[in-house]
Amino acid sequence: MHIHVKAPVLTKCPKCGKPVLPHVVCLNCGYYKGAEVIDVLKKLDRKERKKKEKEIEGKEEKETAKKPLSWEGLSKK
Ligand SMILES: [Zn+2]
Repeated sequence: MHIHVKAPVLTKCPKCGKPVLPHVVCLNCGYYKGAEVIDVLKKLDRKERKKKEKEIEGKEEKETAKKPLSWEGLSKK
């Protein structure tokens, strides 16, 4: 007897890095395919909003920091 349980395949939200269902709006940051679909910050009160903004921005910074950008190139000036 074989029971195949299909686990939901999660992908990573490109915006905030949270695991999300593919083809579904990320409920954490409200982004889908690179565009903001839900204004998740609107629902939150000020304190929560700041926290969330930080969370999302922090992830973005990390992503850009990954790029092999050119400290060497800069210092060679
Ligand atoms: Zn997200």
